[in-house]
Amino acid sequence: MVDLKSQYQKIKTEVDAGIQEVLNTTAFINGPAVKEFQTDFETYLNVKHVIPCANGTDALQIAMMALDLKSGDEVITASFTYVATAEVIGLLGLTPVLVDVYENTFDINIEAIEKAITPKTKAIVPVHLFGQCADMERIMVLAKKHNLYVIEDVAQAIGADYTFSDGKKAKAGTIGTIGCTSFFPSKNLGCYGDGGAIYTNDDALAKKSRMIAHHGQSVQYVHDVLGVNSRLDTVQAAVLKVKLKHLDEYAAARNKAASYYDKALANHPKLKIPARAKNSTHVFHQYTLQLNGVDRSKLREQLAERGIPAMIYYPIPLHEQNAFKSDRFKKGDFPITEKLCATVLSLPMHTEMDEETLKYICTNLIELVN
Ligand SMILES: *Cc1c(COP(=O)(O)O)cnc(C)c1O
Repeated sequence: MVDLKSQYQKIKTEVDAGIQEVLNTTAFINGPAVKEFQTDFETYLNVKHVIPCANGTDALQIAMMALDLKSGDEVITASFTYVATAEVIGLLGLTPVLVDVYENTFDINIEAIEKAITPKTKAIVPVHLFGQCADMERIMVLAKKHNLYVIEDVAQAIGADYTFSDGKKAKAGTIGTIGCTSFFPSKNLGCYGDGGAIYTNDDALAKKSRMIAHHGQSVQYVHDVLGVNSRLDTVQAAVLKVKLKHLDEYAAARNKAASYYDKALANHPKLKIPARAKNSTHVFHQYTLQLNGVDRSKLREQLAERGIPAMIYYPIPLHEQNAFKSDRFKKGDFPITEKLCATVLSLPMHTEMDEETLKYICTNLIELVN
């Protein structure tokens, strides 16, 4: 699905030098590269604060802790997402309120959010799924009206640009109260292990998030609140510093591959190519088709036999997972999510796709579904 090896070969000299420097100085924790990457990333995102942490799941948890969400508070998110989004909500004793998504863009359904709001609702967690932004302008209007926090899960959409109706642009994750991202190796800005970050323009929230990520510590050995231990290690920061410089180029390469897929697969009665959101650029974390009248398991097997990987993100909606069992929702409640879970198929997508590979994938896919 991804080709991290070829990508590494192209930046090997720089990455190796960055890692070697960490080894030479043995500043494995909080070495200079962490702060350097943080500053570079703040500039790239045009956001006041980036707080690096250990992974994307921690970023979400720290954000919710920093916002002082308490047991019984309701947090609205999509049922069609990666488990981490809702997992931290449950883990903190908050109540995950799942809602459906839009069939075309896979993003959280705004009307469904509005319907789910109660006096206990404290936050909305839009997930910028597969690489493009949810409808942030409408979400922000709704949040303002009901006095809710917006926690953007930007793990799959680092670098995507959202355009407001007045023409203003902002990077995904910098629009809501707080943004949370992941640098897992296969993410669009991936390091060589685990990593994550929180973004915010709010000074107090930044200070609190940083404190929570470091054992609730304001000054060394002074602990004001209960925190966690969540750091981006220096080796990962050194890798990210190099890769950040290439991020826009990586997004362009992904878009080029997506355009090839679009042209080759459009207008096929059994394949629906991914729709583009109106106000967002797409960074194609995933290129996800919807199949129509195709035996998906069989197709995956046949593709695999021809050396073509294809993945299902995500096969089971959160509201059907045992971990999220609740009398609030049951199978059948979110028909779009359920339909997507049964029909989506993601094709290989990364920064090193060449035309020959794309052609091979498309030709074989069309032959197999025909
Ligand atoms: C990857 C991912 C996360 C979690 O990130 P980790 O770094 O693996 O903890 C959260 N939300 C979404 C949507 C993701 O894709």
